[in-house]
Amino acid sequence: MNRYGYTMLAVTASQGKVSVVDRDIPEGDGELIAVTSSGICGSDLHMIENGLVNVVLGHEFGGYTTDGRLVAVRPTGACGSCSHCSTHHSQLCAEALRNSHGISRDGGLAEFVRATEDRLFEIPTGTDPSCVGLVEPLAVVLHGINRMNVQNGSTAVVVGAGSIGLLAAAVLRDRGVAVDIVARHPHQERAAEQLGVTPVRQAGSNYDASFDAVCTQQSFDTCITATRPGGSLLEFGMFWTPVALNNQMLLKEITVVPSIFYGHTQEHHDFQEAVDILHRVPSITSAVITHRFALSDAQEAFAVAADRKAGAIKVHLLTSL
Ligand SMILES: [Zn+2]
Ligand SMILES: [Zn+2]
Repeated sequence: MNRYGYTMLAVTASQGKVSVVDRDIPEGDGELIAVTSSGICGSDLHMIENGLVNVVLGHEFGGYTTDGRLVAVRPTGACGSCSHCSTHHSQLCAEALRNSHGISRDGGLAEFVRATEDRLFEIPTGTDPSCVGLVEPLAVVLHGINRMNVQNGSTAVVVGAGSIGLLAAAVLRDRGVAVDIVARHPHQERAAEQLGVTPVRQAGSNYDASFDAVCTQQSFDTCITATRPGGSLLEFGMFWTPVALNNQMLLKEITVVPSIFYGHTQEHHDFQEAVDILHRVPSITSAVITHRFALSDAQEAFAVAADRKAGAIKVHLLTSL
């Protein structure tokens, strides 16, 4: 118990299991955020399975500040003064991961979280408060796409129709790219169609760019095969199992581009761009957020998120349900 006089619910994990626990409302520096929307990410599932997280979970979240602003919270840290921070690449700052909500400091799968002002991105009026957790994964895909040379009229394939793949396809379409998405399950195909993107069971060939939203050997190889000579391939996320390169990549001179987090200093903020697109294209929300649970039902929510066949794309927890 602390000066607020009551505790809050928060989601933690230990030995591969998720629990909903009572915690003190966080005190200290930064703004207190009453969370309205918090997503479960595939990387949460990997971190839980591998015992890599011992803080309150959740890096995709937003909510209301005590003065009534609706904000999305950038989870990653940035020292603001290193060579990466000062050249618009603060995703490479040592603080990005070392000081990240839901990974190395308490995250947003809780009723309240405390975050510093530099991490807050105000949401324009008209955006549904229960969707602001989608800003973070949108910023992830925007950062990756911004690192690629894709323009209006380019062709692209996205391999993997989970939330990152679908969000990437939606952004590419918004930029006038002709995009196919390789989907495995009927609910993924339906979501793709809702986004105006063509779902395919197998990738075609000779795309200008490919986007690997699965990061396994199979998805990497599929992308290499589908990309035209001289084209480029973007890797979203992490290789949770080792992936070997191949000679096709060399023979076709495919540029493989890595992408992590979001750039967030000075003139361009991938996070701000994500706020803008979520406001401008609200159909993204209805296509991608398939399930919503109360925070107290986090165990069930994580079980649904982990079961690809359960029809889940993005599972959100809401403190107000
Ligand atoms: Zn994530
Ligand atoms: Zn830095």
